[in-house]
Amino acid sequence: MNQQQIEQLSWPENQLLPAIVQHAISGKVLMQGYMNPVALSHTLASNTVTFFSRSKQRLWTKGESSGNTLSLVSIDKDCDADSLLIMALPAGPTCHEGTETCWHDNNANSPQLSFLYDLEQVIASREGADPKSSYTASLFARGVKRIAQKVGEEGVESALAAMAGDKEELANEAADLIFHLLVLLRSQKLALNDVIKVLQDRHK
Ligand code: AMP
Ligand code: ZN
Ligand code: ZN
Ligand code: ZN
Repeated sequence: MNQQQIEQLSWPENQLLPAIVQHAISGKVLMQGYMNPVALSHTLASNTVTFFSRSKQRLWTKGESSGNTLSLVSIDKDCDADSLLIMALPAGPTCHEGTETCWHDNNANSPQLSFLYDLEQVIASREGADPKSSYTASLFARGVKRIAQKVGEEGVESALAAMAGDKEELANEAADLIFHLLVLLRSQKLALNDVIKVLQDRHK
């Protein structure tokens, strides 16, 4: 979005458009604020999401005091150019009450596929933890050879379940496979998103 496109938005008299911020990977809605043209230009120039605060009556860079900034990924306007959708990557909890998003009921704001991203964060938190404290931590402690072996096993078990026509067993084994694959990726400093990017590039 350039300066001319900013001017062409459907600015109301008070010069404020609602801006909805979504997590660029998980798709969760993080927060909603308001932007005036200056806040929008500032967001584009700094790559850090900046609103016009109605309570403070000034430009407000989200995270300016907490450090929980929102790093800009993309901005789009809606069909009639009176609402902004912002994709961003948060540096920490987005809500000032300390939660990941401003919608506190996690069940109401969890696109189903975002669970894979949540699971990935849990897996990452187990790396280097006491092996006795969790199965995932014990996998990391045993190293890449064991994790890779598990991925192989679960892949074969998934294949066998499909060949046996056992849908319930296939769902269980596929869950085992995906879990161990996420652990393997993490052990090699790769994220699910790196894999998704490969798939997207092939799709082009
Ligand atoms: P921050 O921008 O994170 O440094 O927070 C500064 C102040 O902005 C907080 O004390 C709140 O008053 C307000 N604030 C922060 N995050 C939010 C949010 N997600 N929604 C509404 N107000 C917020
Ligand atoms: Zn609209
Ligand atoms: Zn909030
Ligand atoms: Zn299994």
